[in-house]
Formats: sequence, C-alpha cells, structure tokens
Amino acid sequence: MDLLYRSTRSRGGAVSASQAILKGLADDGGLYVPESIPVLDQSLEALSQMTYQETAYEVMKLFFTDFTQEELKDCINKAYDSKFDTEVIAPLVEADGTYYLELFHGATIAFKDMALSILPHLLITSAKKNHVKNEIVILTATSGDTGKAALAGFAEVKGTRIIVFYPKNGVSPIQEKQMITQKGENTFVVGITGNFDDAQTGVKQLFGDKELAEIMDGAGFQFSSANSINIGRLVPQVVYYVYAYAQLFKEGKVEKGEKINVVVPTGNFGNILAAYFAKNMGVPIAKLICASNENKVLYDFFETGVYDRNREFVLTSSPSMDILISSNLERLIYLTAGADAEKNAAFMGALSEAGKYEITDDMRAQMKDFYGNYASEQETADMIRTLYEKTGYVIDPHTAVAAAVYGKYKKETGDNTKVVLASTASPFKFTRSVMNAIDEKYDAMGDFALVDELSKLANVKVPNAIEEIRTAPVLHDTVCDKSEMRSVVMQFLGI
Ligand SMILES: *Cc1c(COP(=O)(O)O)cnc(C)c1O
Repeated sequence: MDLLYRSTRSRGGAVSASQAILKGLADDGGLYVPESIPVLDQSLEALSQMTYQETAYEVMKLFFTDFTQEELKDCINKAYDSKFDTEVIAPLVEADGTYYLELFHGATIAFKDMALSILPHLLITSAKKNHVKNEIVILTATSGDTGKAALAGFAEVKGTRIIVFYPKNGVSPIQEKQMITQKGENTFVVGITGNFDDAQTGVKQLFGDKELAEIMDGAGFQFSSANSINIGRLVPQVVYYVYAYAQLFKEGKVEKGEKINVVVPTGNFGNILAAYFAKNMGVPIAKLICASNENKVLYDFFETGVYDRNREFVLTSSPSMDILISSNLERLIYLTAGADAEKNAAFMGALSEAGKYEITDDMRAQMKDFYGNYASEQETADMIRTLYEKTGYVIDPHTAVAAAVYGKYKKETGDNTKVVLASTASPFKFTRSVMNAIDEKYDAMGDFALVDELSKLANVKVPNAIEEIRTAPVLHDTVCDKSEMRSVVMQFLGI
C-alpha cells in the first residue's frame, strides 16, 4: 500500500509521494502531509552499521513508497557524493559536552544542502513517473542559504530552470556573492527591495496565480517549489537525526533506547519538524528545543499558544532565521489539530487576515515536548566567543543561537540529558559576524582577509565553497520591487 499525502487545508484528493514532490504546495495553498508517519523497520544495531546513504534509503523508502528501490538509490547516490567534503556527510563533533551535528559539509556549506542536493533528483524522477512533459521552473524565496543551495542543486539539471528571489539588503555579503556568481544557463537570481517575508509572500502569490499557470503551460513550463515546504525537502532532513542517534549508539555515547534532546536553530520550522518526524519514527528523542533569534515569534508561540506575526522585523547576524511566518509550523498545527484540515485552514486564514491565531489547550498539550526560547544578538556573540575560548571550536551565528538557547534551557530545567545540536552553517559563511564576536579588532579587515584569519584561528581549511567565490565574476545583477516579481519571471521565461 502506498503512503499517501494530504493537504493541510482541505480534505480533497490524496496524492502519491511523487505527485506531492512535483506540486510542492497543494492547490488550496496547503502543505502536503503523509497520512501517517511511518515507523523505522530496522534495528538500532543494523542502523549503526549503515553509511549515511544507506540510512537515507531506510528512511526515504518508508515515505516515498511509489519510488522503486532503484530510483531512490539512484537519487541518493547522486546527491550524497563527493560534493560533500566528508565521507560521513554529517559528522558529530563534541565540544563542551554537546554533540554538534555538522550539517554544513555540502556544496554551499549550510544545512540546506542536506535536502537540496537530493531534491532535483527526486523532482526529475517524480516528473518522469507522472509523465510530465513541461519544463519544471523552480521558484524560490530565500533568506540566504536556500537560494544558493537550490541554485547549486539545480544548475544544469536538464528539464529544469530555477529563479531565486532574495532580500537585497537582508543577506550576508558572502551569501549574496555566492548567489550572484552562480553559473548555469538555467539559473536566474533577483534581489528584491523588501525583506524575506515579502519575497516569500510574492512567491506564494505567483504559485497561486492561475492565469500565469495557464500562460506557462501553453509555453511548456510549470512551477515547482524548492522551498522547505516541499515534502521532498522535509523527508531527507529526517535522515540525519536517525543517523546521528545510530552513530552515538555505535560509539558507545548512548545506551540503546537512551533518550536524547535535540536543539535546532529555527526559522521556517523545517529542520525541527524533521526532528519531530524522526521522534515519531522511533528515534528516542525527549525534548525538541526550538531556538529563535530576536525574531522570537516561535518562542512567544510556545509560551502562550498565540502565533502573532504583528511585530517589528529584526535584521540579525543569523539571517536565515529572520522569519516572521514559519511556513512548516502549519504541518504541526494540522497534525496536533487531529489532522483536521478545516481547523487548520481557519488558523491559516486568521494568520493571513489578522496576522495571528491562537491554538487550543488540547493542541498545546500535544506540543509539550517542544521547548522554545531565543537568544539576543549579544548572547549569540558571547556564545561564539566563550565556546571558542573554552574549546577552540568555532561556530556560526545560527548554531550559536541554538547553543545559547540550550544554555538557557539547562539553567531553567537542570535537565542533563545528552544533546544533539544541529549545526546549520559553517562559520566561514558568516565570517565577519563570527570574527567580530571573537574580537573587535577584526572589524577593520576585509572579507577575504578575515576568511584566512578564521582558518588560522579555528585550525580549519578554508572550504571550497569560499575559495571559489574569491575571484568569481558577478553574473546576476537584476534588482526589482516586490510588485514586479511576476513580470520579472515572465521576462526570464520569455513569455
Ligand atoms: C535555513 C536555516 C536555518 C533555519 O532552518 P529552518 O528549517 O528554516 O527552521 C537555520 N540555520 C541556517 C544556517 C539555515 O540556513
């Protein structure tokens, strides 16, 4: 029996995994959720002997049931190869008693690579399985990391084009340089005058634009999404939580069945939702610690049960978490509302109209394993400096938000359960913030001089992703207003 996927917003037709991957977002604007979360069918002993790729297969085969074994393994092997600078793909590094799960060893040195290196292959395979003739146009809004990771994943993949919108003044200089130097005839990068939420709202509008869809279909194109709402992004992220636990067991760091806590620096709620899925698949996870930066909508939500986006948008040193609408939270809302699409649709309606909604006590009770907190800019910088001074280990600002929140959690609860902390970006991607946190004297240095300095200080080789852009020419210079996104898309497609 195939596992089917339903929209979070209406009770209508269930679709197969490949159809859900192909569509990204359901027609009613909802997100696809599997009818049930499957349980792992391999023992911990067996999992602990598996490579990352083998683990990926064991997880994905349970979700993507309409893919053949050959198709799935082919996707996995094309994704998790030498693009990663370590064979283990997602290493665990212990520092100051915490296990940092380094998710930044892929092509763009941030955790988005974990899913975006496989999504193009899942998508192309899904298109073939469903006899799609149109060229797939990937449309993405990015707060920095998704954009480059998606570009790297899709560049030169036959049968696809990719358009990325990013907030012109809302990403780091290195993030911007990474994107605007992207090669590949099928790639298009556009800065918008607005913030990430403007970009994301604009993209959602384009996805919902029926007239545009018809024009595109006539010209042989159709949209798909690489954003973290695509189920083809979420499921590959479940893999590393399974893998991390199996590795801890293999190394004798946990007893069989011993619970761990997981800490995740959170923006769109995709990564931590993947941990929640892993927990429901049988990985012994106790608490899911949701870390926010000063855009602390999620902290307030877990404290009060009210999700309220009506607030000042803050630009922080962890831009990939500068988000006021955490799209993937909708899946948790839907699930805790008893897989009730009507109830969920009402909450999402309130969110788009009034900018807020309040969940029921019963739903809150079902979220009791989530703990939310946030770190200020100062706390984040202090965390980078103190961890470096204590251990020599250098972390990026996103990871530091998580580490600082974990410190608060421990202080508040006295809970000493072992912890896996999702380390979501290489410090080399945010060199300036990292170096300024360590010592003010670095402020005067140029971007690439700083990179070399960080390499010395952390005793880590400069990643290829950074070496590449030192001299790369700028290939994309389009900037537009958020109201012009539609025409910019049509121009690029020549329609
Ligand atoms: C995207 C991103 C996050 C947030 O992850 P979500 O799945 O959106 O919650 C955190 N850190 C980095 C470096 C990211 O790129």
